[in-house]
Amino acid sequence: MKGHLFIISGCSGVGKGTLLKLFLENHPEIKLSISATTRNPREGEIDGINYFFISKEEFEKAAQNGEFLEWAEFSGNYYGTKKNYIEKTLAKGIDIILEIEVKGANQVKSKMPDAVTIFIMPPSINTLETRLRGRHTEDESAIQLRLKEAEREIEAGKKFDYIVVNDNLETALNNLEKIFNSKAWGKQ
Ligand code: ADP
Ligand code: 5GP
Repeated sequence: MKGHLFIISGCSGVGKGTLLKLFLENHPEIKLSISATTRNPREGEIDGINYFFISKEEFEKAAQNGEFLEWAEFSGNYYGTKKNYIEKTLAKGIDIILEIEVKGANQVKSKMPDAVTIFIMPPSINTLETRLRGRHTEDESAIQLRLKEAEREIEAGKKFDYIVVNDNLETALNNLEKIFNSKAWGKQ
């Protein structure tokens, strides 16, 4: 049997990375896809672990060669999921999670309708801004761009299969766990 594909989206700073790190510690059997991006690495990020950090030229060439399952521009940079790894992993019967923004999520969902889409919702825009600023990884102009993307993303997120509000971290983690455990999606 093929593996299941899960897509997790949510505004920058909502806590996707934090939730997924905790979730995957309990689920070593599930793989997290590593995306390619043209943005610069943040302090502590490692090429091949957090992302494949590539140049704009390399990215555009890979896109032209049809190497991406999906890709999108977000906040001034390109981000994309390489098709090869996803197809091979699913064919081995291994479940895989894509942590990608909503335009890419919609591209994948239209190509692969069995993919399960989960949107991580902030409790409020104010809380989102506090978290984004509290992370201290972006400068002011990048924060403004990311907040501008957030309202559009929240509207798009309302159409996802599941919504998890990340207010209390433990509650959000439990709700994520319930979605994966329910297996209701497997019967779709
Ligand atoms: P994303 O991956 O969605 O961009 P992060 O996981 O980097 O977001 O989280 C952004 C910031 O918010 C981090 O500093 C993280 O520690 C904090 N955070 C995440 N979830 C919660 C939560 N439920 N309550 C309070 N702070 C949180
Ligand atoms: P960040 O720069 O904060 O790591 O990521 C910015 C946004 O890009 C996040 O919403 C993240 O989910 C999204 N993203 C990361 N990888 C991909 C990808 O491969 N494709 C798409 N479409 N979005 C991605």
